[in-house]
Amino acid sequence: MHASGALVVAIDGPSGSGKSSVSREVARRLRLAYLDTGAMYRAAAWWCLHQGLELADRSAVAEAVRAMPLRMVLDPAAPAIEVGGHPVAEEIRSTGISSVVSAVATNLEVRAELGRRQRELIEAECQPGGLSGGRGVVAEGRDITTVIAPDADVRILLTASEEARLARRALDVHGSVDQASVEATRDQVLRRDAQDSTVVEFRTAAAGVVTVDSSALDLEQTVLAVLKVVKAWQARTR
Ligand code: C5P
Repeated sequence: MHASGALVVAIDGPSGSGKSSVSREVARRLRLAYLDTGAMYRAAAWWCLHQGLELADRSAVAEAVRAMPLRMVLDPAAPAIEVGGHPVAEEIRSTGISSVVSAVATNLEVRAELGRRQRELIEAECQPGGLSGGRGVVAEGRDITTVIAPDADVRILLTASEEARLARRALDVHGSVDQASVEATRDQVLRRDAQDSTVVEFRTAAAGVVTVDSSALDLEQTVLAVLKVVKAWQARTR
């Protein structure tokens, strides 16, 4: 717990682990803010493409991201994300953005800039002026438990078998889990994770990080498993 009494919960995991839905629901039940850091990387990719940049042009991309007018609304009941006043929540989830976002996320200058903004957003939720009124935040991504908030009160790695992750993504993107949809999702998900893991480690838990395996759990069961980890921490520190 922070001096202010705020609670910071950090959740990392690969794509399809369910971390966005789970983190958002955990935040809602604990009355904390919800920070989706993947959305920030997606918005950065969207912004650079919108400006007509080549994503391979690392210094131009980094410069554009430093100037990106990004606004995050950390309300778990109605999260929102705007770039230059334009709501981008839907566009940034397109297959087009999913297939190029790693090019931006593996740019180390971009990581430094977005990491700085993420730390600021987390810190703001530990203060009375934040959306949570100083209660704290659930922040999710790939490097929250290790790089962005290694001192978070509760740190969780949410994993799931490759089979479960592919089925979830196929359902999200194609609306079904038949063989063809799973195959179409396979390349995208596995390639993205492989590319992302060249700059951040999110497949094995760092020391002190609790692993929650959601392979055999539905959303509600996973939310309860995460809440159990939070409660165990609260019982230890009370
Ligand atoms: O979680 P989501 O699939 O929305 O993340 C999109 C992308 O953002 C990931 O594939 C990864 O490239 C990047 N990301 C990251 N570090 C984070 C969160 C997301 O590199 N903390």
